[in-house]
Amino acid sequence: MSKLSVAKFGGTSVANFDAMTLCANIVTTDPNTRVVVLSASAGVTNYLVELANGCDKTRRTEILEAVKTIQYNIIDKLQEQAQIRAEIDTLLNHITALAESASLATSDALTDELISHGEMMSTKIFTQLCVERGYPAVWVDVRDIVATDSQYGKAVPNDEKTKSQADAILKPLLSAGKVAITQGFIGRNDEGKTTTLGRGGSDYSAALLAEVLNADDVLIWTDVPGIYTTDPRVVPNAQRIDTMAFNEAAEMATFGAKVLHPATLLPAVRSNIPVYVGSSKAPEQGGTWVTRDPQPRPTFRAIALRRNQTLLTLSSLSMLHAKGFLAKVFTILAKHNISVDVITTSEVSIAVTLDKTGSASSGADMLSQALLDELNEHCHVQVENDLALVAIIGNNLHTQAGVAKQLFHHLEGFNIRLISYGASTNNVCTLVKNQEADDIVRALHAGLFE
Ligand code: ADP
Ligand code: ASP
Ligand code: MG
Repeated sequence: MSKLSVAKFGGTSVANFDAMTLCANIVTTDPNTRVVVLSASAGVTNYLVELANGCDKTRRTEILEAVKTIQYNIIDKLQEQAQIRAEIDTLLNHITALAESASLATSDALTDELISHGEMMSTKIFTQLCVERGYPAVWVDVRDIVATDSQYGKAVPNDEKTKSQADAILKPLLSAGKVAITQGFIGRNDEGKTTTLGRGGSDYSAALLAEVLNADDVLIWTDVPGIYTTDPRVVPNAQRIDTMAFNEAAEMATFGAKVLHPATLLPAVRSNIPVYVGSSKAPEQGGTWVTRDPQPRPTFRAIALRRNQTLLTLSSLSMLHAKGFLAKVFTILAKHNISVDVITTSEVSIAVTLDKTGSASSGADMLSQALLDELNEHCHVQVENDLALVAIIGNNLHTQAGVAKQLFHHLEGFNIRLISYGASTNNVCTLVKNQEADDIVRALHAGLFE
């Protein structure tokens, strides 16, 4: 019996006609790839986010023109252009109308509706490109399948409903020998409104669809031939990791390795679905397989970097030996939908790091005045910005002698604002100044991997 692979192509992979052609080559030469999930063409989502945040007429016209140019440049190279151009024009008209509404009043629902158009356009064009090559590709609106809650910008999928919709809509197509081309990043809530899963969420969509379809694997085709020991843009000497474990990759993604969206591994781990990461530009270079228990498992695996972190230091007003302070603080943070990353505590204070945008699609600042006011009723609040998390990812880091000594040795000369060690067997996390982060990653990488 043939296998079923869900393939996802990211923004740079579908940025222009040549890039899309390479993706089509990958799809059409692999009979197992029968579900294809796409991001918006590179740059489009950023433009749409800008429109959704509201801008004046001149800027709106500029952005519209830029988005149109990106998509038209691809259409211009297709054989049959009239119908696809008309379809893209309809979507561009929607964008124009929604952008005008956003310039009067923004809303989270409007933002998601607007930014979903990037994936709608890229998938329509790619389907046409595949059909022209004689491939049995069919365009599918993923919102008919991926059901989510109503947290616009960071929606959470409803797995059961998504599964039953996939069974009803996708499975018959696959049984009929079709290849489904669909959107990453977006879904629909119970009210019938479009939602998004957070920036970079197409990886997550692909893993989710793989899970509900009982697929054999998820293939993430991107602009790097695999997962590296650190971001190769920061350290050109970084090495490709051929096989790694789900929990190692999950830690990397959570702590900033952009190559995978942090939630991608959730369905993969739950349903034990191997994830492959490779380059759509150079598939022959091979890539990384992420599986449950590959061997060997080195002490130091990789370094991840997450920029633009905020540190909140909360000092109790009433404190020494007071009970319930942490409970109070976390209740307030949860009420404001803030997810905390790293925590350290002392007798009278607690320091927590958070990602100000929470990677929500709109990029909006989550640290609101209302949250600060509420915290201020219970404690003194100090906010520090321009920080970065540098996470050292590995295995059994907490049980091995000498780990701390090695790390501190390589970190000599840098100011470390906060350290978290021991909660996870897979990482040691340090908070550092944004402007020193690259140098710290390079020093650690040189010391641990080169
Ligand atoms: P896509 O648009 O295909 O989703 P992304 O830009 O989201 O691609 O992710 C790919 C990028 O992730 C790479 O270009 C690279 O700079 C970055 N990256 C960060 N950390 C790593 C890492 N450890 N290994 C590989 N790539 C990484
Ligand atoms: N297009 C979306 C973004 O730019 C989703 C994705 O690319 O995964 O964030
Ligand atoms: Mg991505």
